Amino acid sequence: TENNDVPIVIIGSGYGGAVSALRLCEAGKKVVMLEMGLNWEKAGIPFSNLLKPGKSSAWLKKKSIAPFMNIFSLTPFTGILDRLNFEHINIWVGRGVGGGSLVNGGMAVTPKESYFKEVFPDLDAEKFYNHYFPLVREELKVNVIDEQFLKDCPYYKFTRVGEEEAHKAGFKTMRVPNVYDFKYMEKEFRNEVPRSALNTEVIYGNNYGKNSLDKTYLRKALETGNLEILDLHHVQTIQLNDDKSYTLKVRQIDTSGIMVADKVFNCKKLILSAGTMGTLQLLLQSHAENNFPVHEKIGKKWGNNGNFMTGRNWVKPLSGGTGAKQSTIPVGGIDNWEDPENPFFTEIAPLPMGMDVATALYLLINRVDKKGEVAYNKASQSLTLNWDESNTLKMKENAQYFIRKMNKANGGTRSHLLFDNGFGADICYHPLGGCVLGEATNEYGKLKNHENLYVLDGSLIPGTIGVNPFVTITAIAEYCIENLIKENEFA
Ligand code: FAD
Repeated sequence: TENNDVPIVIIGSGYGGAVSALRLCEAGKKVVMLEMGLNWEKAGIPFSNLLKPGKSSAWLKKKSIAPFMNIFSLTPFTGILDRLNFEHINIWVGRGVGGGSLVNGGMAVTPKESYFKEVFPDLDAEKFYNHYFPLVREELKVNVIDEQFLKDCPYYKFTRVGEEEAHKAGFKTMRVPNVYDFKYMEKEFRNEVPRSALNTEVIYGNNYGKNSLDKTYLRKALETGNLEILDLHHVQTIQLNDDKSYTLKVRQIDTSGIMVADKVFNCKKLILSAGTMGTLQLLLQSHAENNFPVHEKIGKKWGNNGNFMTGRNWVKPLSGGTGAKQSTIPVGGIDNWEDPENPFFTEIAPLPMGMDVATALYLLINRVDKKGEVAYNKASQSLTLNWDESNTLKMKENAQYFIRKMNKANGGTRSHLLFDNGFGADICYHPLGGCVLGEATNEYGKLKNHENLYVLDGSLIPGTIGVNPFVTITAIAEYCIENLIKENEFA
């Protein structure tokens, strides 16, 4: 086995990893980033669209794994979308250089200040709203759709219908910012450039238009000359050495998932940014197999960010439904957060199936009042999740309330086309928590019981943030790494 000695290793190239890499590289530190997924930019392989799932559509699977309607068989390839199956919940995650930013819908939402304060009572909210949130919106290239384009573009009929129906039902709507370049989308519409959002590209990757992390934070970090990204490098376990450094067992694979080499990395400083589920797997598995010390709070306060999918069929069928042509980038939301009885936020989601299915799809985000817990099963070498219908009961009540009110005002039926009983309680895009900031770590993400290990990703957020999470994950990572560098942790 090849043995590598490097000063700083970052595991994972999603939001937490990309922010850490940029700020450390700017401070003159040499950083090696280990990412299990493929570097798609370097590989030069195009992403597939929703209607023709190909290489990018699934992580080493024989069948596509979209939330619904999978009829496609695949040759296993290191695609960008993976699904982790638990008894009561399925969790989708991104794999590849750029992590979740490759697969996600790009919705860049800053949380409500009141809820941020409730979730993070110890953080300086003023500093976040005046500094970190504006900073990350700038770095991530967040922008907003032009209202006139939205009004005129046939690809946004689903949004216009969704907003009109919401207003009729007495709900408040909001514009949702995104990292997809809306000026690019306008050019797509005019056929001046190749199409992406208007060509059913999302979740299996966007070939154009989307400012994913490889185009923002990671590109800037690489430009310093201090970052080396090793893709198709899967970290298997971590060992704590007597001198408080770490040894990582790493398997390099090829694009069909077959082992190319087993490697060892020794590092003085380790940053875990493998995403909520990846980070918990590494910590808990290393604990079970290597006596790696973990704090009792690891695995606690896990949540699905209140994700709850639902839909309505038979939406305006006589006036052309929700539209045969749909952009994949959502720009509308319904904000019912202030309702004390049924607080929720929902995305008015596209369903670009290439035909008019007169169906409206919604991804609700609710509070998570009952949290779950993640543990490790040594026999199956996999994570277990203490999470069942009792955790999503209130979310279901909110979804029922929402659908009832929408149908009463507008017609339509509960969607049996998309979900067994009209509700998708088991669909999770936003796993959060399990390594909560200030509980399992110090106030800046340094893991308790450790001197040289930092966790910087979604696992720091205690299971809920009330909106789509990547703006918050990025802001927390900025805050932590800035202070860790200030405290000379990487000196
Ligand atoms: P991630 O982005 O998950 O990155 C972790 C990286 O670590 C991955 O690249 C992974 O391959 C790598 N990794 C894991 N384990 C290992 C290992 N052992 N060795 C090496 N590498 C490893 N959020 C929003 O805010 N807006 C949206 O519109 C939105 N839409 C979404 C749509 C979908 C389909 C999905 C799945 C998610 C969506 N999200 C959205 C959620 C968002 O993408 C995630 O919250 C975010 O990516 C999490 O960031 P992170 O830094 O915690 O980790």
